Amino acid sequence: MLIDCHVHLNNYAENPGRPTKENVEDLLAKMAEHSVDHAVVLTSYKSNVDRPSVEEVIEILANDPRTTVVEGLRWRSESRTDLYTLEDRLREGTVKGIKLYPGYDKYAINDPSLESVFRIAAKYDVPVMIHCGDTYAKDAKVRQAHPLLVDDVAVDYPDVKFVICHLGNPWFQDTAEVLYKNDNVYADISGLTLGDFTYEFERYMVKRVKEMIMYMGDPGRQLMYGSDWPLVRMGPYIKFLHSLELPDEAIDNIAWRTAAKLFRIRVPEQRQDS
Ligand SMILES: [Zn+2]
Repeated sequence: MLIDCHVHLNNYAENPGRPTKENVEDLLAKMAEHSVDHAVVLTSYKSNVDRPSVEEVIEILANDPRTTVVEGLRWRSESRTDLYTLEDRLREGTVKGIKLYPGYDKYAINDPSLESVFRIAAKYDVPVMIHCGDTYAKDAKVRQAHPLLVDDVAVDYPDVKFVICHLGNPWFQDTAEVLYKNDNVYADISGLTLGDFTYEFERYMVKRVKEMIMYMGDPGRQLMYGSDWPLVRMGPYIKFLHSLELPDEAIDNIAWRTAAKLFRIRVPEQRQDS
C-alpha cells in the first residue's frame, strides 16, 4: 500500500500550456505504473493557464477514489481564496486539507493574517500543509518558509495538525527539532531532488534524513511519503524511501498509515498488507 501525499497538476517549465486533463491522465498512468494506490493533489497559490484553480481540479478529478484534493491558499494574489467557499468545500469534503505557500506568496508561516485560516483548519480537523525550505522560484523569499517558524504556529494552535513539506530542506535539523518538540507537527519527504537523483545526491539525502531520525526518534509517528510529482519522477522517489532502510512498521506508517489517518483516506482492507 502506498499513498503519495504530495503531487501537483501544474505545468512547470517542461510542459507549458498542457491541458489539466492530460496531466490527470499522466498522473493516473504513473500511479498505475509504480503501484501508487492514492495521491493527494495540492492546488497552487495562484491560478492561470498552467496552474488550475481548486474548482477546476475538483471538477476534473470528480471524486476519483484514487485521489484527495488539498486546497492551496491564494493569499496575496488578485484572486484571493475566499474563506467562506473554502469552508464550504471542507464541510462537503471535496477538499481535505489546506496548503500554504509562504515565501512564494509573500507572507511568513507565522503571519498573523493566517489566524482565520488556522481556526477553520481546527474547526474541520483538516491538516495544514506548509511549503518549507528551498523555493523552486528565484523571486520567492526563502526565510519566510523556514521550518523553525512552524513551531510558532504549532504552539499557538495546538488543535491544528501541521505538515512541514520537503522536510524543510535544507534545514533538516531545525525540522527534526520542530517534529521532536511538537506532537501536532508532521512532515513529508517530498521534493528533495528535481527529476531524478544522482547517486551522490541520493546518498547525501539518505544521510541527512537518517540524521534527523537519530535526533527525533520514531520516524513512523510523523513522516509521510510524498514525491512532489511531476517535479520529481515517481520511480526513483519510491526507491529513495526504501534506501532509508527503516524497520517494516515505520515504512508502513510513512508509506500510507499516517497519511490515511491525517487526510481520512479510506483504505480497502485487502490493500493494507501489500
Ligand atoms: Zn510541491
